[in-house]
Amino acid sequence: MDTARLQQALDTITTRMQASDDWGQVASYIPELARIPPRQFGIAVATAGGEMLTAGAADTPFSAQSVTKVFALAIALGRAGDQLWARVGREPSGSAFNSIVQLEYEQGIPRNPFINAGAIVVTDEILSGRPPKEALAEILGFVRAAAGDDSIYINDKVALSENAHGHRNYALANFLRACGNLRHAPELTLGTYFHQCAIELSARQLARAGRFLIGAPGMPNLVARPRIRRLNALMLTCGHYDGSGEFAFRTGLPAKSGVGGGILAIVPGRASVAVWSPGLNAYGNSKLGTEAMELLARAMDWSVF
Ligand code: GLU
Repeated sequence: MDTARLQQALDTITTRMQASDDWGQVASYIPELARIPPRQFGIAVATAGGEMLTAGAADTPFSAQSVTKVFALAIALGRAGDQLWARVGREPSGSAFNSIVQLEYEQGIPRNPFINAGAIVVTDEILSGRPPKEALAEILGFVRAAAGDDSIYINDKVALSENAHGHRNYALANFLRACGNLRHAPELTLGTYFHQCAIELSARQLARAGRFLIGAPGMPNLVARPRIRRLNALMLTCGHYDGSGEFAFRTGLPAKSGVGGGILAIVPGRASVAVWSPGLNAYGNSKLGTEAMELLARAMDWSVF
């Protein structure tokens, strides 16, 4: 990897993003995220060769939110294997992250594990046979092990704020339960899900945590190779909600976004990239994060195609 060229690309993109006159809108559905100052940008790249390159606010922790759905899916597949696919599908949804309409048509089987309904089922699977504290310890432990960093934490305030305003997620969980696709009481599964979403880390830590998805020798060996490919395939097709096609078109890379403004993108065999800017576009994905990923993929000639 030409790290001098990569560092130059990161610096140029960061300067350009910092001069932006439109940073997008921060998530407003819970007060704890609504108060985050929008004019922030950081990016970090962990290469398969073991280097770490950063630019901008790469050490500012942010709320990982839906980016954690990738880690949760890896854990749930480890526990349930392919039986998990009886409870959740693998098709892009074309609907918003918190959409409820498709659930009724599809008898409570969410379209994919990266929309909220699907992620709630995934967390419910991780919860099976043990108390929420243990399930959460496994999720946080997985992210910490992937990043090699035990300082990654859960922000309880964000989790509680989410619980207090989580009427829509409760609606999804209750509907799943009514269809027989939720094993635990909605409060239990959602309590775990909200704490999972409230994991906080920096772009540097997230880029490190994504290294197991690169699928190259010497990377943390947390998931078997065929499963790494499948996780990447789902990130490419479903990782950005109803903006997934657009993101794939613009970057050509598997990636997962969260409403905290983080995006984890994988360049298979080469790198794990984390970008963060809390202002969102109309799909609920980081506005400048998406733009930066497009510029970086172009500058480095990165694409899975
Ligand atoms: N905790 C958020 C929710 O369930 C996650 C959404 C996201 O990051 O897109 O609404």
